[in-house]
Amino acid sequence: MQTVTTVKEVREILDPIHKKGQTVGLVPTMGYLHDGHLSLIQKAREENDFVVVSIFVNPTQFSPNEDLDQYPRDFERDQVLCEAHGVDLIFHPDASEMYHNHKTYVSVDDLSQKLCGKTRPIHFRGVATVCTKLFHITKADRAYFGQKDAQQFFILNKMVRDLNFDIALRLCPIVRAESGLALSSRNKYLSDAEKEDALVLSRALKEARALLDAGERQSAVILDAMKKVIATAPDAKIDYVKIVDVENLDDVEVIDRDVLVALAVYVGPARLIDNLIFKFQ
Ligand code: AMP
Repeated sequence: MQTVTTVKEVREILDPIHKKGQTVGLVPTMGYLHDGHLSLIQKAREENDFVVVSIFVNPTQFSPNEDLDQYPRDFERDQVLCEAHGVDLIFHPDASEMYHNHKTYVSVDDLSQKLCGKTRPIHFRGVATVCTKLFHITKADRAYFGQKDAQQFFILNKMVRDLNFDIALRLCPIVRAESGLALSSRNKYLSDAEKEDALVLSRALKEARALLDAGERQSAVILDAMKKVIATAPDAKIDYVKIVDVENLDDVEVIDRDVLVALAVYVGPARLIDNLIFKFQ
């Protein structure tokens, strides 16, 4: 496994791989790796000849009031985990390598303003821009993303289709702790008591799944039940709980198509997200 910090080095390593006709899988991350990230790496390892993991806490996806400086980092541990999971190359640039007098951004209209985009207005522009750069730098054949950030995946997939990127995006399932809590680097911000409160997210989704499986199709009924579950943790504060169309992320009142049931909840110092996708048949 190699670790490099410059775009030039990535290209020098990958050019011969592409010339040989070998496939490259890319896993973009912000590091502080957990089993969720490792599941994406495993999938990339299964499907490609060469696996690149980028580890970059991308400043353009954080607003000035957000946690860019506090975001957890442990590059040495990340390297050990990548090596153990068969990664071929880590790209670990610093911000000045990625953004030097930067003036160009990629925005995916509409989808980026909904759900998390309401409280994080520049977030998805930053994500789309850094992913565009990573796709171009690596010329990867496939890139791997987690359903944990479902809106991110839908936005990037739209970008890839709208702008004719020659890359396939893969969506991988949410990896959870035994308690049900979706793994996230930001869980590090939580005390034990807050981790207990944070279980209301997965419990609310479990409730939604049970109602859907029982045939409930009125979103209002499901959302109400979810909010009741969240209210059992008095310190948890809802940002949003929504049932939306997977294509346009618009609210759905009666569930007669595939929907994303998504929520964002503040627990202590963290803003946590989780979701499920319901396939209508
Ligand atoms: P991040 O480092 O948080 O930017 O995440 C990098 C990638 O890992 C994104 O595609 C996330 O959706 C994915 N990811 C994060 N948490 C999980 C999880 N619990 N299960 C599956 N994928 C995840």
